[in-house]
Amino acid sequence: MAEIVKCKKCSEPFEVIEIGGGMTSPEPEPMTCPHCGHVTMKLASGRLSTRLISGDETGASAKK
Ligand SMILES: [Zn+2]
Repeated sequence: MAEIVKCKKCSEPFEVIEIGGGMTSPEPEPMTCPHCGHVTMKLASGRLSTRLISGDETGASAKK
């Protein structure tokens, strides 16, 4: 289950993937912006993994 969120600090979009979970009630989990490293808490029932969005959505591929 992936979701696109925007970083509150640098306003860059990134993808958040929830790993596992389902057995526990949602708790605030940290997710780290892959652009600037800013950590945001988000309610999730599993661990959160973040990754850069690939492709044409951001144009971030210009910076490798
Ligand atoms: Zn950021």
